[in-house]
Amino acid sequence: MESVSAAVIVAIDGPSGTGKSSTSRAVAAKLGLSYLDTGAQYRAITWWMLGQSVDVNDPQAVAALAGRPAIVSGTDPSAPTITVDGQDASGPIRTQEVTSAVSAVSAVPEVRARITELQRRIAAEASYGIVVEGRDIGTTVLPDADLKVFLTASPEARASRRGGELKARAGSGTVDLAATRAALVQRDAADSSRKASPLKRAEDAVEVDTTELSLEQVIECVVTLVENTVAEKAQRTPS
Ligand code: C5P
Repeated sequence: MESVSAAVIVAIDGPSGTGKSSTSRAVAAKLGLSYLDTGAQYRAITWWMLGQSVDVNDPQAVAALAGRPAIVSGTDPSAPTITVDGQDASGPIRTQEVTSAVSAVSAVPEVRARITELQRRIAAEASYGIVVEGRDIGTTVLPDADLKVFLTASPEARASRRGGELKARAGSGTVDLAATRAALVQRDAADSSRKASPLKRAEDAVEVDTTELSLEQVIECVVTLVENTVAEKAQRTPS
């Protein structure tokens, strides 16, 4: 493992299927940083709402209960965890039911305020630094991050990657790529058009188009960006 000396805050944003999670985890592991998957937190609160039979399309009903569940994220990149009221939620948050409902829940301002506060606290407590991945990390959650990366890829590449993940999870079953692409485009449209903190590239983010790159190449590229950021930061900091 390489290691970076000063605490460094890295924000990685972008739409679904751009390799955000795999890249962020690998970069954090390589550089000895913590890792936070903010999508998992929105999925966790969505899973809890569904379990309480809350109508996720009723923003007032969602807002009224947004403060209730205790959501705890473990930030070790080699074994990230997520619990809701002490219960492991890592499996259930990946179901189709949660994926279909999460954009409606994450658009509710009271949900975002609650989860954003959690995210900022986790980032502040990461003494060696952290890689935080999501949709609004560079724009809203951590606007002073040392490095902001915005990952993109063509809809076709994103659908095929997401299809591969779903297939790996489903075992031998077939995955409908056209349906995967349509669901992904629809979720990105919802995430990009919501009023509260939409998916958007921060003006000072470095954009990396991953369409033609392998995962290893994207990881390498982001590791280099973090190392350069840390070196520049060290130069600016008087010894
Ligand atoms: O990254 P993932 O696909 O797991 O994210 C699930 C959902 O959580 C997104 O579609 C979006 O609605 C929401 N999200 C968000 N802001 C973030 C991270 C995720 O609104 N920072």
